[in-house]
Amino acid sequence: MQSVFSHLFLLAASVTPALAFCGAHTHLDRRVEGEGVTISSFGYTGTNGPLLWTQLNTTENELCSTGTNQSPINMVEGQFQLISASDVELAIPDVPEGAPFENLGTNVEVVMKDVGGQFVLEGKNYTLEQFHFHHPSEHIDNNVSLPMEMHMVFSTEAKEIAVIGVYVDLVDTTSILELHILPRATPSTLLETIFSSVGEIATPGTSTTTKPLVMSELVDLLKAGSFQRYTGSLTTPPCSESVEWSVATEKLLLSKATYQAARDVIGFNARYPQGNLGEQNLLSMAITAAQAETPVEVPAETPAEAPANATAATAVRRRQRLQKKRGTSLE
Ligand SMILES: [Zn+2]
Repeated sequence: MQSVFSHLFLLAASVTPALAFCGAHTHLDRRVEGEGVTISSFGYTGTNGPLLWTQLNTTENELCSTGTNQSPINMVEGQFQLISASDVELAIPDVPEGAPFENLGTNVEVVMKDVGGQFVLEGKNYTLEQFHFHHPSEHIDNNVSLPMEMHMVFSTEAKEIAVIGVYVDLVDTTSILELHILPRATPSTLLETIFSSVGEIATPGTSTTTKPLVMSELVDLLKAGSFQRYTGSLTTPPCSESVEWSVATEKLLLSKATYQAARDVIGFNARYPQGNLGEQNLLSMAITAAQAETPVEVPAETPAEAPANATAATAVRRRQRLQKKRGTSLE
């Protein structure tokens, strides 16, 4: 099985990274003008969920279960390189006429393809295509999950992909005192503006136009902080790798009422945290572990309280067997 997975991985890795991101189609692969919003075929729960994304299309989605640099990840020390915002260039014009805002079924997306947003990362020029939202956050901020995460998707002419991830936290707007003492602890005007229209696209496949978007607030916020850089993957099928991630250290804030309105439309759309970069894919690892499992013999005279201990001891033995077999740690 191991060799089969390795073979499939090599095959999949040789394919040019697909253009889709967070949707069966996205604006990296723009639909014909006038065509409706296409609803994504994958999902986040049950048999359409991330454990079985490869099975939805065993050819295109192979990397979801074999890739070794998959996203999202727990952003702990050692998994990323911290870079200053001064090391990148980010410029996104305001959108006074508003932007298309679409419900893809798995996500709500603001189309920014024609706005001309630019991101220069490590000497490469990327153009802003769209941004969308995950609930809850996909990346884990040093072991902590945040209420939401915004993904700003950029691409080069050669269709290389860079994504800026921005965590979204909640702010209590009922506390007047807090707003006076901590002027930055106010809801993001940009997010409040975008989500003021989210009720208009409550039904998957529908679209609307946002109110005028002032992007400078977001750009200024990101430029005031740093980015956690790593090279990972799309967090949706086909899970293509070589995606350049920059997760912002600065967070956007959202009022509770607006968060609830967005949450009720977005639902649940976060892929589970993947393994450490460069290590075996968790799904491949799980298959190996399941195959290595052997029936446990519990002595007939085992006291009533013993099963828990027996289970723990069995788990330890199984872990030791696997570590010995692979020569790696499961931690
Ligand atoms: Zn995303």
